[in-house]
Amino acid sequence: MVHPTRRCIGCGALRPKAELLRLAVAGDEVVQDPRAIMPGRGAYVCDRACWEQALRRRAVPRAFRRNVSIDPSLLDLTS
Ligand SMILES: [Zn+2]
Repeated sequence: MVHPTRRCIGCGALRPKAELLRLAVAGDEVVQDPRAIMPGRGAYVCDRACWEQALRRRAVPRAFRRNVSIDPSLLDLTS
């Protein structure tokens, strides 16, 4: 069976979905969606370093195809 893969919006690597952190939008705000229960478009990052890279590259609004409110410390809560 082929595992579904997603592309990290930070480094651009294609990885198994289970190894990536899912991000979603609630209202206008980007939130973590570790259980993949949020509706709508998702974005994926490998880890915090890739999140920061995505912020620098302005890849987050591009991934969601809209303007979103971003808390840069969003991933600080994860170990
Ligand atoms: Zn990455």
